[in-house]
Amino acid sequence: MNEDVAFISEQVDRHHAWFSKSLPMIASENIISPMAREMLLTDFGDRYAEGLPHERYYQGNTFVDEVEDRVVALAKKIFRVRHADARLISGTVANMAVYFALLEPGDIMTSVALSHGAHISSAKFGAAGMRGVNNVNYPFDVERMNIDVDGTAKLLRLVRPKVAAFGQSVFLFPTPLKELRDAFQEAGCQVWYDGAHVLGLIAGGKFQDPLHEGADVLTGSTHKTLPGPQHGILLSDSQDEKFIKRLQRAVFPGVVSNHHLHAMAALGITLAEFLEFGRDYAAQIVRNSKALAQALHERGIKVLAEKYGFTESHAVALDVAAFGGGAKVAADLERANIITNKNLLPWDTSPVKPSGVRLGTQELTRLGMAEAQMREVADLFARVAVKGDPPERVAADVAKMRKDFNTVHYCFSKDAEAHRRWRIA
Ligand SMILES: *Cc1c(COP(=O)(O)O)cnc(C)c1O
Repeated sequence: MNEDVAFISEQVDRHHAWFSKSLPMIASENIISPMAREMLLTDFGDRYAEGLPHERYYQGNTFVDEVEDRVVALAKKIFRVRHADARLISGTVANMAVYFALLEPGDIMTSVALSHGAHISSAKFGAAGMRGVNNVNYPFDVERMNIDVDGTAKLLRLVRPKVAAFGQSVFLFPTPLKELRDAFQEAGCQVWYDGAHVLGLIAGGKFQDPLHEGADVLTGSTHKTLPGPQHGILLSDSQDEKFIKRLQRAVFPGVVSNHHLHAMAALGITLAEFLEFGRDYAAQIVRNSKALAQALHERGIKVLAEKYGFTESHAVALDVAAFGGGAKVAADLERANIITNKNLLPWDTSPVKPSGVRLGTQELTRLGMAEAQMREVADLFARVAVKGDPPERVAADVAKMRKDFNTVHYCFSKDAEAHRRWRIA
Protein backbone atom coordinates (compact mmCIF):
# COMPACT_ATOMS: atom_id res chain seq x y z
CA MET A 1 0.00 0.00 0.00
CA ASN A 2 1.07 3.59 -0.52
CA GLU A 3 2.96 4.68 2.55
CA ASP A 4 0.97 7.87 3.17
CA VAL A 5 -2.32 6.04 2.81
CA ALA A 6 -1.15 3.34 5.20
CA PHE A 7 0.04 5.95 7.68
CA ILE A 8 -3.21 7.88 7.70
CA SER A 9 -5.36 4.75 7.98
CA GLU A 10 -3.25 3.53 10.83
CA GLN A 11 -3.64 6.80 12.76
CA VAL A 12 -7.41 6.65 12.35
CA ASP A 13 -7.45 3.01 13.50
CA ARG A 14 -5.40 3.97 16.54
CA HIS A 15 -7.75 6.85 17.27
CA HIS A 16 -10.73 4.46 17.15
CA ALA A 17 -9.00 1.98 19.44
CA TRP A 18 -8.18 4.79 21.88
CA PHE A 19 -11.65 6.31 21.95
CA SER A 20 -13.31 2.93 22.38
CA LYS A 21 -11.64 2.63 25.79
CA SER A 22 -11.99 6.29 26.82
CA LEU A 23 -14.55 8.49 28.52
CA PRO A 24 -15.42 11.19 25.95
CA MET A 25 -16.52 14.25 27.96
CA ILE A 26 -15.96 17.22 25.65
CA ALA A 27 -19.19 19.21 25.96
CA SER A 28 -19.40 19.99 22.22
CA GLU A 29 -19.07 16.44 20.90
CA ASN A 30 -21.25 13.39 20.47
CA ILE A 31 -21.49 10.18 18.48
CA ILE A 32 -23.72 9.66 15.55
CA SER A 33 -25.97 6.59 15.30
CA PRO A 34 -24.98 3.68 13.02
CA MET A 35 -27.84 4.43 10.61
CA ALA A 36 -27.00 8.13 10.41
CA ARG A 37 -23.33 7.26 9.94
CA GLU A 38 -24.15 5.17 6.89
CA MET A 39 -25.45 8.31 5.19
CA LEU A 40 -22.03 9.91 5.44
CA LEU A 41 -20.59 7.28 3.11
CA THR A 42 -23.24 7.55 0.39
CA ASP A 43 -23.04 9.18 -3.05
CA PHE A 44 -24.81 12.21 -1.56
CA GLY A 45 -21.35 13.22 -0.41
CA ASP A 46 -20.14 13.38 -4.01
CA ARG A 47 -22.91 15.65 -5.34
CA TYR A 48 -23.78 19.29 -5.54
CA ALA A 49 -27.04 21.05 -4.82
CA GLU A 50 -27.34 24.82 -4.78
CA GLY A 51 -30.31 26.91 -3.75
CA LEU A 52 -33.60 25.47 -2.51
CA PRO A 53 -35.19 22.08 -3.30
CA HIS A 54 -36.97 21.99 -6.68
CA GLU A 55 -35.28 25.28 -7.71
CA ARG A 56 -31.70 24.04 -8.07
CA TYR A 57 -28.92 25.24 -10.31
CA TYR A 58 -27.79 21.66 -11.09
CA GLN A 59 -29.50 18.62 -12.53
CA GLY A 60 -29.37 15.32 -10.69
CA ASN A 61 -31.02 16.50 -7.47
CA THR A 62 -34.29 14.57 -7.78
CA PHE A 63 -33.76 12.46 -4.66
CA VAL A 64 -31.64 15.03 -2.88
CA ASP A 65 -34.67 17.34 -3.03
CA GLU A 66 -36.92 14.67 -1.55
CA VAL A 67 -34.48 14.18 1.32
CA GLU A 68 -34.06 17.90 2.00
CA ASP A 69 -37.84 18.41 2.06
CA ARG A 70 -38.14 15.65 4.65
CA VAL A 71 -35.24 16.93 6.79
CA VAL A 72 -36.82 20.39 6.86
CA ALA A 73 -40.23 18.93 7.73
CA LEU A 74 -38.73 16.90 10.59
CA ALA A 75 -36.90 19.95 11.96
CA LYS A 76 -40.07 22.08 11.84
CA LYS A 77 -41.98 19.37 13.66
CA ILE A 78 -39.40 18.83 16.40
CA PHE A 79 -38.84 22.52 17.09
CA ARG A 80 -42.48 23.50 16.40
CA VAL A 81 -41.49 26.32 14.03
CA ARG A 82 -42.51 27.67 10.64
CA HIS A 83 -39.04 27.88 9.10
CA ALA A 84 -36.07 25.51 9.11
CA ASP A 85 -32.95 25.68 6.95
CA ALA A 86 -30.81 22.52 6.89
CA ARG A 87 -28.17 23.87 4.52
CA LEU A 88 -25.73 25.28 7.06
CA ILE A 89 -22.54 23.26 7.13
CA SER A 90 -21.70 24.17 10.74
CA GLY A 91 -22.85 26.25 13.66
CA THR A 92 -20.34 28.98 12.88
CA VAL A 93 -21.56 29.14 9.29
CA ALA A 94 -25.13 29.44 10.57
CA ASN A 95 -24.00 32.35 12.73
CA MET A 96 -22.36 33.98 9.72
CA ALA A 97 -25.71 33.76 7.93
CA VAL A 98 -27.25 35.74 10.79
CA TYR A 99 -24.51 38.38 10.52
CA PHE A 100 -25.15 38.68 6.78
CA ALA A 101 -28.94 38.74 7.12
CA LEU A 102 -29.45 41.00 10.11
CA LEU A 103 -26.37 43.16 10.58
CA GLU A 104 -24.32 45.63 8.54
CA PRO A 105 -20.80 46.78 9.29
CA GLY A 106 -20.96 49.40 12.05
CA ASP A 107 -24.13 48.01 13.62
CA ILE A 108 -24.24 47.25 17.32
CA MET A 109 -24.84 43.75 18.65
CA THR A 110 -25.07 42.88 22.32
CA SER A 111 -23.75 39.49 23.43
CA VAL A 112 -22.23 37.49 26.27
CA ALA A 113 -18.50 38.10 26.78
CA LEU A 114 -15.98 35.42 25.80
CA SER A 115 -14.74 35.20 29.38
CA HIS A 116 -18.32 34.44 30.45
CA GLY A 117 -18.58 31.50 28.10
CA ALA A 118 -19.52 32.93 24.71
CA HIS A 119 -18.30 31.34 21.48
CA ILE A 120 -15.52 32.87 19.43
CA SER A 121 -17.86 33.45 16.45
CA SER A 122 -19.60 36.21 18.44
CA ALA A 123 -16.35 37.93 19.45
CA LYS A 124 -14.54 40.97 18.10
CA PHE A 125 -11.72 38.85 16.65
CA GLY A 126 -14.13 36.18 15.33
CA ALA A 127 -16.85 36.25 12.67
CA ALA A 128 -18.78 39.10 14.34
CA GLY A 129 -15.79 41.44 14.34
CA MET A 130 -14.88 40.43 10.79
CA ARG A 131 -18.39 41.45 9.69
CA GLY A 132 -17.58 44.85 11.25
CA VAL A 133 -20.13 44.43 14.01
CA ASN A 134 -19.59 46.42 17.20
CA ASN A 135 -19.97 44.20 20.21
CA VAL A 136 -21.27 45.28 23.58
CA ASN A 137 -21.26 42.65 26.35
CA TYR A 138 -23.92 42.01 28.96
CA PRO A 139 -23.25 42.27 32.68
CA PHE A 140 -22.81 38.76 34.08
CA ASP A 141 -23.60 37.20 37.45
CA VAL A 142 -20.72 34.79 38.06
CA GLU A 143 -22.44 33.18 41.07
CA ARG A 144 -25.37 32.18 38.89
CA MET A 145 -23.23 31.72 35.77
CA ASN A 146 -25.84 33.63 33.81
CA ILE A 147 -26.41 37.13 32.47
CA ASP A 148 -27.61 39.67 35.03
CA VAL A 149 -31.26 40.28 34.07
CA ASP A 150 -31.70 43.81 35.41
CA GLY A 151 -28.35 44.97 34.12
CA THR A 152 -29.01 43.43 30.72
CA ALA A 153 -32.44 45.06 30.45
CA LYS A 154 -30.86 48.41 31.29
CA LEU A 155 -28.08 47.88 28.77
CA LEU A 156 -30.53 46.98 25.98
CA ARG A 157 -32.57 50.14 26.59
CA LEU A 158 -29.44 52.25 26.63
CA VAL A 159 -27.53 50.76 23.69
CA ARG A 160 -30.53 49.87 21.49
CA PRO A 161 -28.66 47.18 19.53
CA LYS A 162 -29.75 46.01 16.10
CA VAL A 163 -29.44 42.44 17.35
CA ALA A 164 -29.42 41.08 20.88
CA ALA A 165 -27.48 37.81 20.77
CA PHE A 166 -27.60 35.09 23.41
CA GLY A 167 -26.11 31.65 23.91
CA GLN A 168 -22.83 30.30 25.21
CA SER A 169 -20.30 27.52 24.90
CA VAL A 170 -20.18 27.20 28.67
CA PHE A 171 -23.95 27.05 28.92
CA LEU A 172 -25.17 25.89 32.32
CA PHE A 173 -28.51 27.66 32.75
CA PRO A 174 -31.31 28.88 30.47
CA THR A 175 -31.13 32.48 29.30
CA PRO A 176 -33.89 34.61 30.90
CA LEU A 177 -35.46 35.59 27.56
CA LYS A 178 -39.01 35.91 28.89
CA GLU A 179 -37.84 38.32 31.58
CA LEU A 180 -36.23 40.50 28.90
CA ARG A 181 -39.20 40.69 26.53
CA ASP A 182 -40.16 44.27 27.43
CA ALA A 183 -36.57 45.40 27.05
CA PHE A 184 -36.37 43.82 23.58
CA GLN A 185 -39.54 45.63 22.59
CA GLU A 186 -38.30 48.99 23.87
CA ALA A 187 -34.90 48.56 22.26
CA GLY A 188 -36.53 47.54 18.99
CA CYS A 189 -33.93 44.84 18.45
CA GLN A 190 -34.00 41.46 16.82
CA VAL A 191 -33.28 38.57 19.14
CA TRP A 192 -30.91 35.83 18.09
CA TYR A 193 -30.28 32.72 20.18
CA ASP A 194 -27.18 30.66 19.44
CA GLY A 195 -28.25 27.22 20.61
CA ALA A 196 -25.21 25.31 19.30
CA HIS A 197 -24.55 23.51 22.57
CA VAL A 198 -28.08 22.97 23.77
CA LEU A 199 -29.90 22.20 20.51
CA GLY A 200 -30.61 18.59 21.52
CA LEU A 201 -31.89 19.67 24.93
CA ILE A 202 -34.22 22.19 23.30
CA ALA A 203 -35.37 19.54 20.80
CA GLY A 204 -35.97 17.14 23.68
CA GLY A 205 -38.12 19.63 25.59
CA LYS A 206 -35.48 20.50 28.20
CA PHE A 207 -33.55 23.65 29.10
CA GLN A 208 -35.72 26.23 27.31
CA ASP A 209 -37.65 26.91 24.11
CA PRO A 210 -36.08 30.12 22.78
CA LEU A 211 -38.23 30.57 19.69
CA HIS A 212 -41.35 30.52 21.85
CA GLU A 213 -39.82 32.72 24.55
CA GLY A 214 -38.99 35.75 22.42
CA ALA A 215 -36.14 34.83 20.06
CA ASP A 216 -36.61 35.62 16.36
CA VAL A 217 -33.97 33.24 15.07
CA LEU A 218 -32.10 30.25 16.43
CA THR A 219 -28.86 28.81 15.07
CA GLY A 220 -27.18 25.62 16.13
CA SER A 221 -24.66 22.87 15.56
CA THR A 222 -26.22 19.46 14.95
CA HIS A 223 -23.47 17.42 16.60
CA LYS A 224 -23.31 18.54 20.23
CA THR A 225 -26.32 17.67 22.39
CA LEU A 226 -28.18 16.91 19.18
CA PRO A 227 -26.26 13.72 18.37
CA GLY A 228 -26.02 14.13 14.61
CA PRO A 229 -23.46 14.76 11.88
CA GLN A 230 -21.13 17.75 11.96
CA HIS A 231 -23.46 20.27 10.34
CA GLY A 232 -25.55 23.32 11.23
CA ILE A 233 -29.16 24.48 11.23
CA LEU A 234 -31.10 27.74 11.30
CA LEU A 235 -34.65 27.97 12.66
CA SER A 236 -37.28 30.67 12.99
CA ASP A 237 -40.96 30.89 13.84
CA SER A 238 -41.36 34.31 12.26
CA GLN A 239 -44.41 35.01 10.07
CA ASP A 240 -42.59 37.89 8.41
CA GLU A 241 -41.83 36.63 4.90
CA LYS A 242 -39.29 39.37 4.22
CA PHE A 243 -37.37 38.40 7.34
CA ILE A 244 -37.32 34.74 6.29
CA LYS A 245 -36.24 35.68 2.75
CA ARG A 246 -33.35 37.69 4.17
CA LEU A 247 -32.24 34.69 6.20
CA GLN A 248 -32.58 32.38 3.18
CA ARG A 249 -30.54 34.65 0.95
CA ALA A 250 -27.86 34.95 3.60
CA VAL A 251 -27.59 31.14 3.62
CA PHE A 252 -27.39 30.88 -0.17
CA PRO A 253 -25.74 32.64 -1.92
CA GLY A 254 -24.37 34.21 1.29
CA VAL A 255 -22.45 31.58 3.23
CA VAL A 256 -22.87 28.21 1.48
CA SER A 257 -22.93 27.01 -2.06
CA ASN A 258 -23.12 23.21 -1.80
CA HIS A 259 -24.37 22.17 1.60
CA HIS A 260 -22.77 18.74 2.28
CA LEU A 261 -25.67 16.56 1.21
CA HIS A 262 -24.43 13.43 2.97
CA ALA A 263 -24.40 15.31 6.29
CA MET A 264 -27.86 16.69 5.55
CA ALA A 265 -29.17 13.14 4.98
CA ALA A 266 -27.50 12.00 8.20
CA LEU A 267 -29.17 14.91 9.99
CA GLY A 268 -32.52 13.65 8.70
CA ILE A 269 -31.90 10.22 10.23
CA THR A 270 -30.82 11.88 13.48
CA LEU A 271 -33.99 13.98 13.61
CA ALA A 272 -36.18 10.94 12.87
CA GLU A 273 -34.48 9.09 15.72
CA PHE A 274 -34.82 12.13 17.94
CA LEU A 275 -38.59 12.23 17.42
CA GLU A 276 -38.68 8.72 18.85
CA PHE A 277 -36.04 8.88 21.60
CA GLY A 278 -35.12 12.55 22.04
CA ARG A 279 -37.20 13.38 25.09
CA ASP A 280 -35.81 10.45 27.08
CA TYR A 281 -32.31 11.24 25.92
CA ALA A 282 -32.43 14.94 26.84
CA ALA A 283 -33.94 14.20 30.25
CA GLN A 284 -31.23 11.63 31.04
CA ILE A 285 -28.47 14.02 29.94
CA VAL A 286 -29.61 16.64 32.46
CA ARG A 287 -30.04 14.07 35.24
CA ASN A 288 -26.52 12.82 34.53
CA SER A 289 -24.99 16.31 34.62
CA LYS A 290 -26.57 17.04 37.97
CA ALA A 291 -25.43 13.66 39.34
CA LEU A 292 -21.91 14.16 38.02
CA ALA A 293 -21.68 17.69 39.44
CA GLN A 294 -22.92 16.55 42.85
CA ALA A 295 -20.50 13.58 42.90
CA LEU A 296 -17.51 15.75 41.95
CA HIS A 297 -18.51 18.29 44.60
CA GLU A 298 -18.64 15.50 47.21
CA ARG A 299 -15.13 14.45 46.18
CA GLY A 300 -13.66 17.85 46.96
CA ILE A 301 -13.76 19.50 43.55
CA LYS A 302 -15.09 23.03 43.21
CA VAL A 303 -18.08 22.88 40.86
CA LEU A 304 -19.40 26.25 39.68
CA ALA A 305 -22.87 27.56 40.57
CA GLU A 306 -23.16 25.31 43.61
CA LYS A 307 -25.90 27.44 45.17
CA TYR A 308 -28.02 27.12 42.04
CA GLY A 309 -27.83 23.35 41.61
CA PHE A 310 -24.65 23.34 39.48
CA THR A 311 -26.33 22.98 36.08
CA GLU A 312 -29.56 22.61 34.10
CA SER A 313 -27.82 21.46 30.91
CA HIS A 314 -25.39 18.81 29.65
CA ALA A 315 -22.43 20.83 30.91
CA VAL A 316 -20.58 21.07 34.20
CA ALA A 317 -17.91 23.72 34.88
CA LEU A 318 -15.13 23.10 37.39
CA ASP A 319 -12.58 25.35 39.05
CA VAL A 320 -9.44 23.22 39.38
CA ALA A 321 -7.01 26.00 40.32
CA ALA A 322 -6.34 24.15 43.58
CA PHE A 323 -5.18 21.08 41.65
CA GLY A 324 -2.74 22.78 39.28
CA GLY A 325 -5.13 24.53 36.90
CA GLY A 326 -7.16 23.54 33.85
CA ALA A 327 -4.26 22.82 31.51
CA LYS A 328 -2.54 20.42 33.91
CA VAL A 329 -5.68 18.63 34.99
CA ALA A 330 -6.98 18.20 31.42
CA ALA A 331 -3.59 16.84 30.29
CA ASP A 332 -3.43 14.37 33.22
CA LEU A 333 -7.00 13.27 32.55
CA GLU A 334 -6.15 12.63 28.92
CA ARG A 335 -3.38 10.26 30.00
CA ALA A 336 -6.08 8.45 32.00
CA ASN A 337 -8.22 8.33 28.84
CA ILE A 338 -10.73 10.83 30.24
CA ILE A 339 -11.13 13.35 27.43
CA THR A 340 -12.04 16.90 28.54
CA ASN A 341 -10.89 20.46 27.86
CA LYS A 342 -9.39 23.27 29.88
CA ASN A 343 -11.62 26.31 30.04
CA LEU A 344 -11.43 29.98 30.91
CA LEU A 345 -13.48 30.94 33.97
CA PRO A 346 -14.99 34.42 34.46
CA TRP A 347 -12.32 35.51 36.94
CA ASP A 348 -9.34 34.22 34.93
CA THR A 349 -6.91 36.85 33.77
CA SER A 350 -4.62 34.74 31.59
CA PRO A 351 -6.13 32.92 28.60
CA VAL A 352 -3.14 30.56 28.46
CA LYS A 353 -3.53 29.56 32.12
CA PRO A 354 -7.24 28.92 32.58
CA SER A 355 -8.32 27.59 35.95
CA GLY A 356 -11.32 25.68 34.66
CA VAL A 357 -12.26 22.37 33.11
CA ARG A 358 -15.51 21.97 31.17
CA LEU A 359 -17.34 18.65 31.06
CA GLY A 360 -20.36 17.38 29.15
CA THR A 361 -22.45 14.27 29.85
CA GLN A 362 -24.21 14.04 26.48
CA GLU A 363 -21.88 11.45 24.94
CA LEU A 364 -21.64 9.23 28.02
CA THR A 365 -25.44 9.34 28.14
CA ARG A 366 -25.56 8.38 24.49
CA LEU A 367 -23.47 5.33 25.41
CA GLY A 368 -26.11 4.29 27.93
CA MET A 369 -24.65 5.64 31.16
CA ALA A 370 -26.91 6.87 33.96
CA GLU A 371 -26.53 8.38 37.45
CA ALA A 372 -24.70 5.39 38.97
CA GLN A 373 -22.04 5.59 36.27
CA MET A 374 -21.67 9.33 36.84
CA ARG A 375 -20.54 8.55 40.39
CA GLU A 376 -18.01 6.05 39.02
CA VAL A 377 -16.78 8.64 36.54
CA ALA A 378 -16.41 11.15 39.39
CA ASP A 379 -14.31 8.58 41.30
CA LEU A 380 -11.99 8.07 38.33
CA PHE A 381 -11.81 11.84 37.78
CA ALA A 382 -10.94 12.52 41.44
CA ARG A 383 -8.27 9.81 41.50
CA VAL A 384 -6.43 11.72 38.77
CA ALA A 385 -7.18 15.33 39.71
CA VAL A 386 -7.37 15.22 43.52
CA LYS A 387 -5.49 12.15 44.73
CA GLY A 388 -2.76 12.24 42.11
CA ASP A 389 -2.98 8.53 41.23
CA PRO A 390 -0.78 7.70 38.23
CA PRO A 391 -3.01 8.42 35.20
CA GLU A 392 -1.90 5.24 33.43
CA ARG A 393 -3.22 3.14 36.31
CA VAL A 394 -6.56 4.98 36.21
CA ALA A 395 -6.69 4.43 32.44
CA ALA A 396 -6.93 0.67 32.99
CA ASP A 397 -10.01 1.16 35.18
CA VAL A 398 -11.50 3.60 32.69
CA ALA A 399 -11.15 0.94 29.99
CA LYS A 400 -12.73 -1.66 32.27
CA MET A 401 -15.70 0.59 32.96
CA ARG A 402 -16.13 1.52 29.31
CA LYS A 403 -16.37 -2.16 28.27
CA ASP A 404 -20.04 -2.34 29.28
CA PHE A 405 -20.91 0.89 27.45
CA ASN A 406 -19.94 0.38 23.86
CA THR A 407 -23.14 0.82 21.87
CA VAL A 408 -25.05 3.88 20.78
CA HIS A 409 -28.38 4.32 22.58
CA TYR A 410 -31.44 6.43 21.75
CA CYS A 411 -31.38 5.40 18.08
CA PHE A 412 -33.08 2.84 15.84
CA SER A 413 -30.19 0.40 15.78
CA LYS A 414 -28.84 -0.72 19.10
CA ASP A 415 -27.00 -3.56 17.43
CA ALA A 416 -23.57 -3.82 18.98
CA GLU A 417 -21.97 -5.26 15.87
CA ALA A 418 -23.27 -2.49 13.63
CA HIS A 419 -21.74 -0.01 16.02
CA ARG A 420 -18.45 -1.83 16.33
CA ARG A 421 -18.05 -1.84 12.56
CA TRP A 422 -17.76 1.92 12.60
CA ARG A 423 -15.99 2.55 15.84
CA ILE A 424 -13.36 -0.07 16.33
CA ALA A 425 -10.52 -1.15 14.08
C1 LIG B 1 -19.79 25.19 19.04
C2 LIG B 1 -20.39 26.54 18.97
C3 LIG B 1 -20.54 27.18 17.75
C4 LIG B 1 -19.87 26.71 16.50
O1 LIG B 1 -20.31 25.57 15.97
P1 LIG B 1 -19.50 24.75 14.88
O2 LIG B 1 -20.54 23.79 14.46
O3 LIG B 1 -18.34 24.16 15.58
O4 LIG B 1 -19.09 25.70 13.80
C5 LIG B 1 -21.24 28.37 17.72
N1 LIG B 1 -21.74 28.91 18.84
C6 LIG B 1 -21.59 28.33 20.04
C7 LIG B 1 -22.17 28.99 21.24
C8 LIG B 1 -20.89 27.14 20.15
O5 LIG B 1 -20.68 26.60 21.34
